[in-house]
Amino acid sequence: MVEIKYVPSICPYCGTGCGINFVVKDGKIIGVEPWKRHPVNEGKVCPKGSFGYQFINHPDRLTTPLIKENGEFREASWDEALDLVASTLKKYADTDPNKLGFYACARSPNENIYITQKLARAGCGTQNVDHCARICHGPTVAGLATTFGSGASTNGYDSIEEADFIFCIGSNNMEAHPLFGRKIIRAINNGAKLVVADPRFTPTAKLAHEYMQFKTGTDVALMNAMIKIIIENDLQDDEFIANRTKGYEEMKEVAMKYDLDKAAEITEADPEQIKRVAIEYAKADKAAIVYSLGITEHSHGADNVMSTANLAMLTGNVGKIGAGVNPLRGQNNVQGACDMGALPSDYVGYQKVVNPEITKKFSEAYQMDLPTTPGLTLVEMMNAAHSGDLKVLYIHGEDPVLSDADIKHTKEAIANLEMLIVQELFMTDTAAEADVILPAAGWGEQEGTFTSGERRVQWLRKAQEPPEGTMLDWKIMEEVAVRMGRPRELFHYENAAEIWEEIRELAPSYYGITHERLLAPEGVHWPCLDPEDPCEPLMHKGKFAHPDGLGVFQAVEHRGPVEVPDEEYPLILTTTRILFHYHAAMTRRCETLDNEVPTGFIEINTEDAAERGILNNEMVKAYSRRGEIEIKAHVTDDIKKGIVNIPMHFTECAANMLTNSDSFDPKCKMVELKACAINVSKL
Ligand code: SF4
Repeated sequence: MVEIKYVPSICPYCGTGCGINFVVKDGKIIGVEPWKRHPVNEGKVCPKGSFGYQFINHPDRLTTPLIKENGEFREASWDEALDLVASTLKKYADTDPNKLGFYACARSPNENIYITQKLARAGCGTQNVDHCARICHGPTVAGLATTFGSGASTNGYDSIEEADFIFCIGSNNMEAHPLFGRKIIRAINNGAKLVVADPRFTPTAKLAHEYMQFKTGTDVALMNAMIKIIIENDLQDDEFIANRTKGYEEMKEVAMKYDLDKAAEITEADPEQIKRVAIEYAKADKAAIVYSLGITEHSHGADNVMSTANLAMLTGNVGKIGAGVNPLRGQNNVQGACDMGALPSDYVGYQKVVNPEITKKFSEAYQMDLPTTPGLTLVEMMNAAHSGDLKVLYIHGEDPVLSDADIKHTKEAIANLEMLIVQELFMTDTAAEADVILPAAGWGEQEGTFTSGERRVQWLRKAQEPPEGTMLDWKIMEEVAVRMGRPRELFHYENAAEIWEEIRELAPSYYGITHERLLAPEGVHWPCLDPEDPCEPLMHKGKFAHPDGLGVFQAVEHRGPVEVPDEEYPLILTTTRILFHYHAAMTRRCETLDNEVPTGFIEINTEDAAERGILNNEMVKAYSRRGEIEIKAHVTDDIKKGIVNIPMHFTECAANMLTNSDSFDPKCKMVELKACAINVSKL
């Protein structure tokens, strides 16, 4: 008899964290149905949620460890591969642990991520551990922690439905976070006004009451001008500023330099529209800011984030439902990867490496004398590999050869390593460059937790057995640590729930999130200090998360992109995601999704295309100082003249062949993925 069952879990794509049910037939996942009782998506999913499961049983799955010899992969036993990895890590752990680096996977459950950072710290004694938030929402962590005391969203997702006014800047949530976008539509139906500020007339902008087009990389000038208008019209919330914040005068002094003429010159936005939107934002009873990577992926991403925080504090729009600063996290568990301590500066629960008491606590727990100096960030590790200072890189489920800026630089860096270890499901662009590949179990094949962008921790259930020949991520890393000679009592888990128990013990913010509570469909929001506390999603009600309880305004000046257009490279390239794709290794192996959009394209303004004689749908050459690609032209008026856009998912026309890895945000080490100078020509 055919057995069909439904196993509840969480979608592995964007940070919205929708509930799904795996449809399992005779022990194999054959489909996905929305989880009707789930509080986030209430029985709906987007195309990725519906069809994004198809990669799970794809014939490309890696099922045998591989070791490269003379440039070719050969199959190896688990014993051989694990011993090789462990002995190479141990060689440097015993002599110079800073020659080792670890990338954790923001799509993997929290428990796997926690063990990745534990292998780095407790296994090898290095703080060199990071993940892809560095190049997506690193500025959110830095910018909101500086202003609000916590680098996370201020409100839960449901809150947006109660907003009166939504200022959405640098977020195309209708494509990148569609079920959050559905909540915005509900807010509009409830009477909210939506303003979308973006260089592209995106599907989200098309829903808006007002679309504010402005030039890529000028967000700070735009928001400083809004702040000046609000203050000049005496619309600031004096009581909130006096009682709940500090640093207002310093912030005001800088913002007042941005009059409308100056802002219009920098941003190329309509000054009357800037004024109108600023006044409406300030007058609204509950005004919410929504942003995503359009704000963060800049060399001044943290400044952009702090500008959103300045606007919200100026108008008293923090600590209340329907308001706040709502960053939409990209990958499903990028919030969790930050939370779990896959950061070179923070242990689990944002406990600081530089705090000697905290490092003492973790040195004791991990039986390893750990440094109080933060380790290298993701981008710094790749640069250290490039210069020969990093010898071994252990990559858990990330694909930097496709997703990091400047692919040529990334490949050169990897070629310089003594060993690249990749723990993966598929032969990704990065795995192809590896020395050792460790085949891992994937989504649907393991238990654990994801944390969505609204800080909701949710339990994942296993729906099918992993393919024979693969191992669970945490078991692989546990085995590596033990083979390095680390004590078994440090790496001793029976299951993911035991790892979660250790996380609770070490991180006060999660102590209240017991395994029993996680089994409920609604999960639990952090911070949650007490198992009896309901732990509501709203943060900063009454006081901010800084020790003195005050929010801190930040004076920020417009800096603009590092690489500006010139005669040779007159166009600004921005990179984006599209509705049907996400992480290429997964969605490009989902037939239904890949059939919808089977390859990449470059969006170019009609005038820019006409100047070059480029026709819609013809193949063109796009080139920058780093490299060139051939790609199909999509000629459109939906993008501002002077700006071009390439979705980042496609290996055969990879946007990151063109992007710039030299342009750091000094506050968080973000590289400038949203703005570099390129040119486009006919082939
Ligand atoms: Fe998955 Fe995001 Fe779509 Fe929800 S909105 S189904 S989490 S991709």
